[in-house]
Amino acid sequence: MAAKIILHIDFDSFFASVEQQYRPEVRNKPIGVTAANSRTCIIASSREAKRLGIKTGTRSYEALKICPGLVLVPADFNKYFDVSKKFLDICKDYSPFTELFSIDEVFMDVTLTAGLFGGTSSLIKTMKERIKDEIGEYITASFGISHNKLLAKLASGLNKPNARLQTPKRSDGGQGFFEIKQEDIVKIYQMAKLTDICGIGERIRRRLADIGINTLIQLRNASLELLVKEFGNVEGHFLKSVGLGIDESRVIPYTQPQEVKSVGRSYCLPKNEPSKKIVLQNLYELCEEVGIKLRRLGKKGKTIGLGLNGSSYIKARKTFRDYADSGSQIYNLIFPLIEEDFKNQKYVRQIHIWVSGLEDKQRLTLPLFDFEEKKDKIVSTIDKINNKFGDHTIRSGFLLYADKLTTAPNGYLADRYERSKLAESEPAHYK
Ligand SMILES: [Mg+2]
Repeated sequence: MAAKIILHIDFDSFFASVEQQYRPEVRNKPIGVTAANSRTCIIASSREAKRLGIKTGTRSYEALKICPGLVLVPADFNKYFDVSKKFLDICKDYSPFTELFSIDEVFMDVTLTAGLFGGTSSLIKTMKERIKDEIGEYITASFGISHNKLLAKLASGLNKPNARLQTPKRSDGGQGFFEIKQEDIVKIYQMAKLTDICGIGERIRRRLADIGINTLIQLRNASLELLVKEFGNVEGHFLKSVGLGIDESRVIPYTQPQEVKSVGRSYCLPKNEPSKKIVLQNLYELCEEVGIKLRRLGKKGKTIGLGLNGSSYIKARKTFRDYADSGSQIYNLIFPLIEEDFKNQKYVRQIHIWVSGLEDKQRLTLPLFDFEEKKDKIVSTIDKINNKFGDHTIRSGFLLYADKLTTAPNGYLADRYERSKLAESEPAHYK
């Protein structure tokens, strides 16, 4: 069988470019996108800012020291989400096998369709023109091609405008894509770093260094036994295939209905928060958001997990007898399990709450008691109002003085809810 043709497309400095596209006055300027609720940290920087060394995670005051003229812009995920959607609309014209990998990255399997558009490079050229015309000239993307997802993603990463490593010769003669062929793997592995591979982060890099593996070539030559012994079966096999440049995973069309297995929300507080009240308000708000997501999906869940990370790490996970889909139910079920530990926690920085063990609401028995039904009605009325006027228009009295959060998609489309929302808005014939 002929080799597959997989594309990986990754927008360059996505959040910042979108801001620059929509606000011409900040084009060609170093800008830093910050979280909507806190300006302490840069979550994305523009090409111009990156060149000065301002990157994701740089503290704002440090960034301003490097560049006093840096423009700080609060993130607007709804805007980024719209651009992402427009982009998917373009992609699907070139292959039904388009997988949304994160808010600004897709994989496409064009094995069967590239021929219809005059081959891969002309297909890419057309897509680039459409991005320019339909999304904006300020938003550019890097294209990687290979015969599998692993190498296609590596290729686009090596082809970034600010890539640490300049690809030896852009194989496209300047059209803005980079291809890794089977016979190039060794040559590419000699130049690239372990952490250029998706799935090898700092933690794995350090553990590999502990067993004397510091380069991709060393990984390529490492024995499966050693890797499995060190990393366990799953991760060991993954690392061995990375070494060999093998990846058999398929491109999963984003239009394929995805089974949502869990729904959750994580939130990083702007500072180490000592106030119990503020932590609880935020926790409650996140429970409400998880409830909203569940109800939009028409699901209820009975396994609830909670993590509070701060001066200590407190967590709880329990499967309950009853299914829950409202914020107050979720909160009231899980919080008592950690209440004692929470009293002793000095501060909290990060809150994570999730619900799994999901079941379609219709399949669950009807509420036994009238008052249950009434509660369900109140909740669905609140949802109707919130759907119309924006999330959290009606909020629990407990939250009156808390900062308002929004159920905005985060940058990583972390749970499948956002993905399913994108798929839903597709024309019917694409489902
Ligand atoms: Mg990107």
